[in-house]
Amino acid sequence: MPMNIAIDGPVGAGKSSIADHVARRLNILHLDTGAMYRAFGLYALRSGVDLASEEALSALVEKVDVQVEYADGAQRTLLFGEDVSDLIRTGEVSAAASAVSKWPAVRRRMVRAQQEMAARADMLIDGRDIGTVVLKDSPCKIYLTAASEERARRRYVQQLAKGDNTPFDQVLRELIARDEQDMNRKTDPLRQAEDAVLVDSTNMTEEETVEAIVKIVEEVYGKQ
Ligand code: C5P
Repeated sequence: MPMNIAIDGPVGAGKSSIADHVARRLNILHLDTGAMYRAFGLYALRSGVDLASEEALSALVEKVDVQVEYADGAQRTLLFGEDVSDLIRTGEVSAAASAVSKWPAVRRRMVRAQQEMAARADMLIDGRDIGTVVLKDSPCKIYLTAASEERARRRYVQQLAKGDNTPFDQVLRELIARDEQDMNRKTDPLRQAEDAVLVDSTNMTEEETVEAIVKIVEEVYGKQ
């Protein structure tokens, strides 16, 4: 059985970057499942379909080709072979990813692809439904969160560094809206799995959070 680690949590909890560091420490791959929903969201935007139409999105998800590749351990996300890793990081695509990911047909397709990858290799997977659905039998689950203002502050600082001047209030509003959508959808909403360990990073540095998670993994799988 491959070593599979699940990390879930709300927007801006630092999942992707923390998961990246932890995976490197453990020398295993990190699968960012949000990138897959984002790539599909981008495809839906480009196709001009109504993001509120389950029928249109169900048909579209049957056609889409989203692949994940690794170069030097870093994930690249491909949409019909095009590397969209950077294009999927805009606010517009974030909102589209959240909108399309509520539909069961979309989730079924993505979950299946993620489970196939997890069955083939040791992997740390981050997302919203990893501990509850994708890796529901994993013995190692983490729910990573932080206070919304702190998550918005981190996102705001990150965006500023990239030259994006979206005001703090708007960053906070969008973050809360996406959390609401992810936590209240009918299919596989974001929630802490009963057997997940809670890590609240509000008052922790990135290094401390990485250490805390590595420790949790080692408690389950032993020292790597
Ligand atoms: O993690 P990230 O913010 O990149 O995810 C983008 C969106 O994709 C989330 O807001 C959520 O709606 C959706 N998502 C999901 N299930 C996952 C990962 C992401 O529904 N496992």
